[in-house]
Amino acid sequence: MTDCLFCRIVARQSPADIVYEDDAVLAFKDIYPKAPVHLLIVPKRHIASLMDARDDDANTLGRCVLAARRLAETTGYAEKGFRLGVNTGPEGGQAVYHVHFHFTAGRRPRSDA
Ligand code: 5GP
Ligand code: ZN
Repeated sequence: MTDCLFCRIVARQSPADIVYEDDAVLAFKDIYPKAPVHLLIVPKRHIASLMDARDDDANTLGRCVLAARRLAETTGYAEKGFRLGVNTGPEGGQAVYHVHFHFTAGRRPRSDA
């Protein structure tokens, strides 16, 4: 079994509250939400961090961004707006080394983030 938490969630070897899935992307609720809506959007293929992304990951990463648009529509935040963030590296606050986009909505974002 892989030791990557998000690969295990993609493989259904660890539980998660999944809100969106297609052939390239999975989105699920953050277990410790920091906003009224806090979702994590991940590529199904393991990419450890944005710094490990290659040119041929562009389509997959773009699909993650477009999944955010879809999630904005399904969660009711298309008009009100939302925030999409990718913590990268130790000083970027990345704790899980499988690229993920934080989708947060329902409160004003912090001015420093
Ligand atoms: P990072 O700090 O790497 O940008 O974000 C990791 C995120 O994963 C955190 O917001 C944290 O709450 C979330 N997280 C950690 N463990 C789990 C888990 O087992 N399940 C889910 N759904 N989210 C998790
Ligand atoms: Zn992984």
